[in-house]
Amino acid sequence: MDLIFNYTPHYFLEGYTESLKVIQQQGKPLLGYFTNRIPVEILHALNVNPIRMLSINSSVQGASERYIQTFACSWLRQIMDIGLNKGYASFDGLIFSAGTCDSLQNLSDIWKKVFPEQWTYNLTFPVLTDTEAAVEYLQNEFDTLIQNISQKFPENPDGFTLSNSIKLFNIKRVNLQKLASLVSERKMRYHEFFKLLLLGDTLPIETVNSYLEKKISQNEITNPPDIPDSPRLLLTGGMFDNYLLFEHVSDFDYLVTDDLSFGTRNFNFTMPQSSFLQGYAQAYLERTPDPTAFDMEKRWKGLENSIHNHQIDGVILLGIKFCDPDTFEFVSIQNNLKDLDIPYLNLETSPDLSNLQQIETRLSAFIEMIS
Ligand code: SF4
Repeated sequence: MDLIFNYTPHYFLEGYTESLKVIQQQGKPLLGYFTNRIPVEILHALNVNPIRMLSINSSVQGASERYIQTFACSWLRQIMDIGLNKGYASFDGLIFSAGTCDSLQNLSDIWKKVFPEQWTYNLTFPVLTDTEAAVEYLQNEFDTLIQNISQKFPENPDGFTLSNSIKLFNIKRVNLQKLASLVSERKMRYHEFFKLLLLGDTLPIETVNSYLEKKISQNEITNPPDIPDSPRLLLTGGMFDNYLLFEHVSDFDYLVTDDLSFGTRNFNFTMPQSSFLQGYAQAYLERTPDPTAFDMEKRWKGLENSIHNHQIDGVILLGIKFCDPDTFEFVSIQNNLKDLDIPYLNLETSPDLSNLQQIETRLSAFIEMIS
């Protein structure tokens, strides 16, 4: 695992598919997943490495058009393009999520046809999240997942110790919370932080934890970057993951926090450290949901708290092209922001960042307007 310690996060992410081959050499099966609702602790306790799928390689496009439906989002298209061009041979299987968005739900059948050698599994989430029936349903889903993965990947030398795995992932979340505070205090640039978030979902948890601890101590002792304290911006959206946008457009340095699927929503909680699936399922359902859950009340509550806690001057709504859940919820968020008298800017892009210049110009004008 020298790769990540000897090179920069940018280097690791740039060669993402190559980097996965290094992780695979550790010997544990790699299981890819798409949404932050997948129970990563359960997978880890079953002796597999959960690796989140990323759309960050922008040099390959178009191959998926033969397979994927016209209404699918640009994020999933890009992920399939990467697989068709570079292969996903490092993955031993993929976990899909039903009960999410149309694009994702339809992908699993297509994936089986395009990559027939890969093992796939569908995990279904309840639509309602605040009922006893929902908890029971999800507990059963997790139980079935455990049985299926145990049969498919029976080797588990340490046995199934869920509480140990929960402890490791909680450490990661606390480390990310500390790094997020550095961003809010202007001691770390947002794009540096965002790359660490992506690593947090693509490296084995043991490696991530030591790497993040090293980053925290480095950033506490080095000189803070020179970023004016205002305006303080918040970025909200869904599954956007192309860190190059934040690297290339320097005005994104004004971000002090986010509300993204790969961002705050992925680490602003800790899980109860027990081995009982019921409590685990309940804690998962209590988290701030992604736009795919269509729980606008809970989504807005989390966003409003963040606006208040980080003293936000303006909000950027970043949508992914052809992502229905983003489009659906942005109208409601905009209305709430108007009520709070918080200025906002709507941006839309695709993983290939084809409108980078336009984004740069519009963000710069927005910052000038609210400064
Ligand atoms: S939530 Fe949006 S970006 Fe994510 S898979 Fe669904 S349509 Fe694509």
